[in-house]
Parts: sequence; structure tokens; C-alpha cells
Amino acid sequence: MSERRPGFSTLAVHAGAAPDPATGARATPIYQTTSYVFEDVDQAAALFGLQAFGNIYTRITNPTTAVLESRVAALEGGTAALAYASGHAAQFGIFHTLLTPGDEFIASNKLYGGSINQFNHSFKSFGWQVRWADPDDIASFERAVTDRTRAVFVESLANPGGIVVDLEAIAAIARKAGVPLIVDNTLATPWLCRPIEHGANIVVHSLTKFMGGHGNSMGGILVDGGTFDWAASGRYPMLTEPRPEYQGIVLNETFGNFAFAIAARVLGLRDLGAAISPFNAFMILTGIETLPLRMERHCANALAVARHLKAHGKVEWVRYAGLDDDPCHAVQQKYLPKGAGAVFTFGVRGGYEAGVKLVSNVELFSHLANIGDTRSLIIHPASTTHRQLTDEQKRAAGAGPEVVRLSVGIEDVDDIIADLDRGLAQV
Ligand SMILES: *Cc1c(COP(=O)(O)O)cnc(C)c1O
Repeated sequence: MSERRPGFSTLAVHAGAAPDPATGARATPIYQTTSYVFEDVDQAAALFGLQAFGNIYTRITNPTTAVLESRVAALEGGTAALAYASGHAAQFGIFHTLLTPGDEFIASNKLYGGSINQFNHSFKSFGWQVRWADPDDIASFERAVTDRTRAVFVESLANPGGIVVDLEAIAAIARKAGVPLIVDNTLATPWLCRPIEHGANIVVHSLTKFMGGHGNSMGGILVDGGTFDWAASGRYPMLTEPRPEYQGIVLNETFGNFAFAIAARVLGLRDLGAAISPFNAFMILTGIETLPLRMERHCANALAVARHLKAHGKVEWVRYAGLDDDPCHAVQQKYLPKGAGAVFTFGVRGGYEAGVKLVSNVELFSHLANIGDTRSLIIHPASTTHRQLTDEQKRAAGAGPEVVRLSVGIEDVDDIIADLDRGLAQV
């Protein structure tokens, strides 16, 4: 066997998969089953006691989902991964593993609107308190640290603004505070950015977006970087205290550098139940095979569209980190040197009304609340995804009244530009 380490595109096609041992099927089969027959009573006992790895019930493990988990762990350079029914379920699973009532975490205020809601409102009923910090003012993360801080959460490439975050600076603050850095890598994907190499301890994705890539299946995943010392910190009881339901084992001692992913699975997913369906795991796995090809086209198209809009008379401003004069360009060159992604915002002259006019007058672009599809997508955040936020929160999240967000697809770029020109002509 050669000692070569496979490249990213090879891993995207092959990692975690092998011809099916039972049938020889080359594509990963959809194991559409809820449960698995035990070999005998002893094997069943070993599975239930976490003394052996194997399948019991699809809420906890499934062979199709396991291929997806191995593949994303390989692409991110982590030790293990755990898939969920959606990106939000994955976020919930991460915090459920880390936090107890009364704990706090620090989050970037430049986030997906749904995450801002989840953190501000739903998490309150679990006694988890978010403290907001501003990635444009790195010191604000340091100022937010208290003795109850248990994690720091940022997006590598922030939705919807297309802002690139200085991961290494924030990782240094998290390290000093003795807490893990969680990076939502949904918009960048591991093809553009691998946060664990820049100090992240946990990576999370909405697989619903570029990873699946075709706008047809919901999913989420966490990746355990295997780099955080849970025992040294002593603040994470799920990982470091004996578990009564598993004969008193301490997960961190038994599972070492993938203990976080195990805890999130055998305690969190087991009890919270947000398992991905094997069918969706299969769809997303198929999408990931072409991730590098799609991202190349997405990025090239987005850059051409951003340049075109920048020169357009009806456009006030464009924020795309791939533009030479963008404030995030230097950080983008450091963390996402292959491209700045396909999601960015621009301001239409004429504010709220102009934004509404534009999204109502495009044809190729679909007006909807998603990103990361092969198709070009458009939305006016102030009237849709971010409407429940206060004006101040909207602006802080990069979603002011004139802001329009694009997720540039993989169609012919001339058609994409012509469609935007048609819409802008009506403004
Ligand atoms: C969509 C999205 C999420 C939530 O994922 P779902 O799969 O919709 O639950 C989280 N973070 C980012 C950056 C997203 O774009």
C-alpha cells in the first residue's frame, strides 16, 4: 500500500465508504432500517454497555449515516463526527453536551438569523445565557469572558454578510479562557476553510446548504477536533463524571480524543432524538462527492457577479470578501485562499422598497430562504429571515433595510448577471 495521503477531492468521493460487504454495491446503500438484530445476548450486552461499537437503533447509529460522518470528519480533519436532522439540531446537541443551567457562552453577533434566535430565546429555557461579541472588535470576545463561560461560537464566513472572521485571534482568546472554540463552517465548507487547523475545537455544519448542495435534504453535523483537554478544564461534567446509565464509565477516560462526539451521541442524541434519516444522509453524501467542483464554480460565479454589481449604478455598496478592496479581503486570503464563497450581500439604492422590488422582479433567481443550492437564490433579509430582530440587531447582523443577499449558483454566469440586471432595471 502506498503511504500517500489522499487529497481533498479523493476524500470527498471515497472517505468512509467501501463496496457493500453483503452485496458488492458500489454506491453506499440506504440502510432504511430502524433496528439491527443482535448476534447473541453477550453482544447485545456489550453494545448497550458501550464496550463494543455496533448498531442498536437508528436514533443512535445507522450504517449509511456512519459513512457520512466518517467522510465529513475526514474532510474537516477531525477525529469523529455526529450527524443530526438539521444544522440547528447539531448546534443544540453541541451546547447540550457542554452547558449546564446557569452557564454562559460567547457568540459572534454576525451569525445566521436562526442561530441568533436559537441562542437568544430557546436556549434561555435551558438556563444557557449567550453573551454577544463583535468579530470586528476582537477584544469584545475577551471582555465577555466570565467564570461561567463554557464555549465561544463563531461562523468562519458569516451569514448573511459574507464577513470572514479572524479565527486564530478568537481561538487564542478561547484557549486563554480554557473553553472550546466552536466554528460554524456552513458557508465556507471544508473545501474553502478547515477551522480545526486554525484552532477550532468543534466544527458544526448545516449540511442543508453547500455540503448537500442541491437544496433537497435537511441535515446537520458536528465534528470533534479531538484537540480540547476536557479533564484539565473540569467544567464539562458530561465528559468527566461517571455515567450511571453506562456502569459508571467516564467518557473522557474511555474515548480519549473523540469523547466529545461520543458524549453528544450516547447521551445527547440518544435522549434528544434529532437523528437524520438514512435517506437524507445518502442524498447529502452524494452531494459531497462533487463539493470541490461545485465550490469552484460557485466562487468563480460569485466573484464575477460581485464585480458586476460593484460597477452598477443602482447598487450602493457590495460586501464580498473576494473583492480586492473589501475590508475582509486580507483575512479571506489567509483563511479561505481558494475563494470567498458564494453568499454575499449588497445594498440597493432606495432602501427597503427597492430591496422588495428587486426580489420581486428576478426570474432565474429564486426568492427563498436558503443558500448553497446549485440554483441562484435571492432574499431581502429585512423583510424575511431577519424581520423578527430589532433594527439594531438587524444592522449588527448585516441585514439593514437596503440589504439584499445572494447565494450565487452554478448556472452560466452571463445568465445570472442578465437576470440581476433585469431585476435592477425595475427598481
Ligand atoms: C442554515 C444555517 C444553519 C441552520 O441549519 P439548518 O439545517 O437550517 O437547521 C446554521 N448556520 C448557518 C450558517 C446556516 O446557514
